[in-house]
Amino acid sequence: MIDFRLDNEYEALRKTVQDFAQNEVAPVIGDLYEREEFPYALVAKMGEMGLFGLPFAEEFGGMGGDYFALCLALEELARVDSSVAITLEAGVSLGAMPIYRFGTEEQKRRWLPALCSGEALGAFGLTEPGGGSDAGATRTNAKLADREWVINGSKSFITNSGTDITQLVTVTAVTGAKPDGRKEISAIILPSGTEGFAVAPKYSKVGWNASDTHELSFSDCRVPEENLLGERGRGYAQFLSILDEGRVAIAALSVGLAQGCVDECLRYVGEREAFGHKIGAYQAIQFKIADMEMRTHTARLAYYAAASKMLRGEPFKKEAAIAKLTASNAAMDNSREATQIFGGYGFMNEFPVGRFYRDAKILEIGEGTSEVQRMLVARELGLR
Ligand SMILES: Cc1cc2nc3c(=O)[nH]c(=O)nc-3n(C[C@H](O)[C@H](O)[C@H](O)COP(=O)(O)OP(=O)(O)OC[C@H]3O[C@@H](n4cnc5c(N)ncnc54)[C@H](O)[C@@H]3O)c2cc1C
Repeated sequence: MIDFRLDNEYEALRKTVQDFAQNEVAPVIGDLYEREEFPYALVAKMGEMGLFGLPFAEEFGGMGGDYFALCLALEELARVDSSVAITLEAGVSLGAMPIYRFGTEEQKRRWLPALCSGEALGAFGLTEPGGGSDAGATRTNAKLADREWVINGSKSFITNSGTDITQLVTVTAVTGAKPDGRKEISAIILPSGTEGFAVAPKYSKVGWNASDTHELSFSDCRVPEENLLGERGRGYAQFLSILDEGRVAIAALSVGLAQGCVDECLRYVGEREAFGHKIGAYQAIQFKIADMEMRTHTARLAYYAAASKMLRGEPFKKEAAIAKLTASNAAMDNSREATQIFGGYGFMNEFPVGRFYRDAKILEIGEGTSEVQRMLVARELGLR
């Protein structure tokens, strides 16, 4: 059966997040963005609303919802601002989800309640200075000594890793060699404040300026053996499955940004005049907006389709990659066109479209570049 309507619960959530984004995020985000400040008060409010617990079971402090609910929330947030949206996306899908999916009962009871409430944030450390796309090339290593993992190495561009409320980073590390000689990569929970765990000053970024991103380094960081997350040697596979889900979330976030561009342009072209007419009367402008709407609509269908397979428990790797590729392209194209439609004002920070333009580019890079998405689709088609 094909039915793209949202049921009452999804629709109510979507509306609640839409109101929050318009009434509470929109008025303050421009200043936070310019000052490159992390939005602590908004994160606290999102925690109270239950957004950080959306896809998790109630027994761990979650809301008992599902991953699609998270996607809807991300879409509505990104329609207004992407820094706030990526803070939620990384907190839930990269920070808490690996523990929820692969953690022991004890790990879940220890970490999830605070992560679900938004009082704490978790981060996900896969990318290293030497490379992100080739995640198997991990150099960070962890050696077992006296029932402790001793971790050495570094990670780059890690979201939510240096806020005042960051409690942990789950890192991938080489823990040995497999019988066939390949690296054995495992995932280990590294609590913030562990001796030898250094968080570099935040990066100066092109976009996502109110989101928190740092390089991390580990020098003989010791954590208990029990901090291994999931099976030893399965860290790489675990992270790849987390990224498949994360791509659907990033697609939803991208759709939100693409929709935000349509919203802003529809408003602006009804007000701005040139050559004696509202610019919305010119067909060249109308066609741009029609194309923006078409891209947003198509990308939304792509992420709904991927999410629907994911929720049914069917393989969704190809659909997730297609959704991420389609939606990040839509975000990039729409933000460029929206900035054009705003003319000189599009280049001013006072209007959100300039911020959308700066925030769109990373969507073609993070959680797998567009080239990596194409590699995944080609592989799923049997091309080697
Ligand atoms: C703001 C921000 C936040 C981030 N947050 C996180 C986070 O929380 N956790 C985390 O682990 N990482 C995070 N990342 C890292 C991000 O996932 C990586 O930047 C991304 O995966 C690309 O890796 P790279 O930068 O090393 O590029 P590279 O892998 O060096 O790629 C460089 C270029 O080569 C292309 N390329 C690589 N291999 C191939 C190939 N085989 N065929 C064709 N083209 C290829 C790539 O597509 C790209 O265009 C973040 C990055 C940014 C900028």
